[in-house]
Amino acid sequence: MTREQSYEIAFEKQKEVLTYKKAVFEMAIANLSKQNPEFADINNRLAQLGSSIAITVISGDTASLDEMQSEMTALSSRRDEILKQAGITDIKYDCSVCRDTGYVNGKICNCIHNSAKKLVIESLSSALPLEDCRFDNFDLNYYPQKSDDGTSPRKNMTAVLKMCREYVTNFDPCKSESLLFMGNTGLGKTHLTIAIVYELLNRGFNVIYGAAYNLFSEMESEHFDRHTNTAYKAAIDCDLLVIDDLGGEFVSPYIQSLFYNIVNTRDLANKPTIINTNLAMGDIAARYTPRVASRLFNYNNEVFTGDDIRLQKAIQKNN
Ligand SMILES: [Zn+2]
Repeated sequence: MTREQSYEIAFEKQKEVLTYKKAVFEMAIANLSKQNPEFADINNRLAQLGSSIAITVISGDTASLDEMQSEMTALSSRRDEILKQAGITDIKYDCSVCRDTGYVNGKICNCIHNSAKKLVIESLSSALPLEDCRFDNFDLNYYPQKSDDGTSPRKNMTAVLKMCREYVTNFDPCKSESLLFMGNTGLGKTHLTIAIVYELLNRGFNVIYGAAYNLFSEMESEHFDRHTNTAYKAAIDCDLLVIDDLGGEFVSPYIQSLFYNIVNTRDLANKPTIINTNLAMGDIAARYTPRVASRLFNYNNEVFTGDDIRLQKAIQKNN
């Protein structure tokens, strides 16, 4: 779901609910008018007074204006009494700020911003384990203190985790650097990027996340339908673009140039991108052309080390 779509749906939903509430309220009023002649008369008189007052205000006759206004006040309070007795309450708005119109002083109300944000998170949650992949359940115990080559994966990943947390805290869609997460499968690249995505979505940033094969195939199919290029446009415009599992997709010359355009356009606009890949830099150059590799070379490059966590978990389960 793109940001534009989420706002469209948020407005539509709000309008639907409000229309329903108004219809229920008006139906109750119409029924009461049929059953209670006094109520019907009051409503008619109030409508008459409303237009008379408007005309009198223009003419400037203050004496009759005061009289009409006090009649109106009296009738209104009698009307409220009858409504209360009949158990009909005024429309209850979900948002008292904009009275469910979605706008305050010509600006989009916070209630719409919040429900659009929620919609994006919900649509991503169905595809992503947003709840499972958080910073606080990233378990450093899976990374050995010392590996055969003498380095410490635990120490390395402790630093990577710290960097990711700081990245989120200091995130600026016009300043934050781009990240390239490298290393074998099962070392937590996806976990940490999803944790970043979750935190930034919650803070209202426009984040697009997708596996390379999904993102690219969606854009490739758009290529043949010139009227829609929403996926491409969203990938270019978003605050943060996350491409997971680069290298897991089928590469064509079209995908090569598409990928270069995305990376290049975002770089020129100083917009951050995060890329996860099992490929080494040499493989990236061979697969996507050296000009792409030279762009990614400028990213902040973190190499994930350790032993396959999925494998470790599977072994634990079987013991
Ligand atoms: Zn509102």
